[in-house]
Amino acid sequence: MSTTIVTGGAGFIGCNFVRHLLDHTEERVVVVDKLTYAGNLESLAGVADHPRYAFVQADIADRDAVRGLFAEHSPSTVVNFAAETHVDRSIDDPGAFVQTNVSGTFELLEAARVHLRERPPLDGEFRLLHVSTDEVYGTLGPEGAFSETTPYAPNSPYAASKGGADPLVRAYHETYGLPVLLTNCSNNYGPYQYPEKLIPLMILNAVEGRALPIYGDGSNVRDWLFVEDHCEGILLALRKGGAGEKYNIGGGSERTNLQVVDALCAILDEELPASENPALAERGLATYAALKSFVPDRPGHDRRYAIDATKARTELGWSPAHDFEGGLRATVRWYLENRQWCDAVQAGTYERERLGL
Ligand code: NAD
Repeated sequence: MSTTIVTGGAGFIGCNFVRHLLDHTEERVVVVDKLTYAGNLESLAGVADHPRYAFVQADIADRDAVRGLFAEHSPSTVVNFAAETHVDRSIDDPGAFVQTNVSGTFELLEAARVHLRERPPLDGEFRLLHVSTDEVYGTLGPEGAFSETTPYAPNSPYAASKGGADPLVRAYHETYGLPVLLTNCSNNYGPYQYPEKLIPLMILNAVEGRALPIYGDGSNVRDWLFVEDHCEGILLALRKGGAGEKYNIGGGSERTNLQVVDALCAILDEELPASENPALAERGLATYAALKSFVPDRPGHDRRYAIDATKARTELGWSPAHDFEGGLRATVRWYLENRQWCDAVQAGTYERERLGL
């Protein structure tokens, strides 16, 4: 049985990917996660007893720990999700982003290089896939989309730290022949996303009758990707992608932030009518949209992201299976049904306060 190490597997995309792997492959899955505020074992509760699953608490920037993991588990695949991921937090504390996103990725690459030097794999026997973001490309005007050859122009410390790691990944292939893959995806949404990010933040604030803080005029555009579609894209990249290749993965669902908030309010009006929600009824509010509030913009806020996923479609046979409206409704229902998870992951660490001003 071959082993896949999933770093950051207790985070949002990672825990969805772990489920996807256990459901769709025969792989043994070892999650490696530091368990920062964003990593929670509650997100893996359903798989904790799975016979092909193991968990190790470790920091990917800890050289000895990472090398020990390679020696112990001899993985045939490593998927690196581990990262500091919230742009607003990167404005307040960029150092943690450089440490994990750049140094941590470097330690993984080095551990893989050293490990494979001692145990050279047969052709196709090893893959390290690094998960990156469309934010490395910077911001778009009203037209066009990011392709794999778009030059990097990151604008936030988060984007810069991700953009610092990607060329290292590439260099390890060009210089050492390490069989790496790089994927750059657009904004994900779906179950288990930490409530600091736009969609879960808005759902939980709305349900509790709190203000829905929209940055600037709400016209910034993101290309939304349902997390399950992203997980399938990563699995296809591992199976069909060429070593050293880079793939952009995007949902093809461009929406302004204001459109996203309006869509969430409309879904909530149906799923949990304001008249049946004491938090709104007490305030005499008949609709969730009445909670919308425009707040000062994020410094350096990129205007628009859009992904050209032609390469993933043609070379991997990937396409998103979920449209935005269906994915968003499924997400709203998940958060309504999993309030215990929401309370547990925020307890003592986060009160949905404004960050990064
Ligand atoms: P997340 O913040 O929900 O989870 C990150 C996980 O990494 C957490 O479990 C955390 O504990 C862990 N982690 C952080 N530092 C670590 C360290 N030093 N060592 C080990 N584990 C550590 O993030 P996410 O949204 O699931 O994103 C996963 C990856 O996908 C990231 O690399 C991110 O840059 C990338 N990405 C995310 C999105 C998105 O919309 N969520 C979009 C593009 C790219």
